[in-house]
Amino acid sequence: MKDRELKPPTPDIIDQVIKVGIGYDIHPLKEGIPLYIGGVRIPFPKGLEGHSDGDVLLHAISDALLGALSLPDIGQIFPPSSPEFKGISSSEILRKAGEMVREKGYSVEGIDSVVVAEEPKISPYKDKMKRKIGEILGIPPDYIGIKGKTAEGKGEVGRGFAIEAYAVCVLRRMDDKS
Ligand SMILES: [Zn+2]
Repeated sequence: MKDRELKPPTPDIIDQVIKVGIGYDIHPLKEGIPLYIGGVRIPFPKGLEGHSDGDVLLHAISDALLGALSLPDIGQIFPPSSPEFKGISSSEILRKAGEMVREKGYSVEGIDSVVVAEEPKISPYKDKMKRKIGEILGIPPDYIGIKGKTAEGKGEVGRGFAIEAYAVCVLRRMDDKS
């Protein structure tokens, strides 16, 4: 089984050309406030409560990008307790995360995500969300995956009290020629 012999990593591999990040977020739904998911305003009687506009998907993606480079998370960069960031748009949070990735010398090569919501349906807005996120990060919309799921009636999300989002990302070091 000579071909399956494990080789020690080269210094280049140790220097990590590819980085992977994961992000998660959840916000409670509240009557009478606007609903934003993936940077898109969705007509619905309830919105997501939290500092900023409560956009779970943009927050999960931002944390995935920052986590991939071991940077502080969005709660640390934009502390909810700080009046400076009260009502900040989540597009600005994601834009800042994208900038920090570029400053570290990495480009975003792919994002995949899941939005878990009993209501409303996510699929009619997916393409618009991809375009919006692509615009914010300066990447093509088809680098971004978005899947809508329900929680099958289970838990807080399933009973319609909250919406959650999961995101993963892949970054590549920009000076990589491979
Ligand atoms: Zn959040």
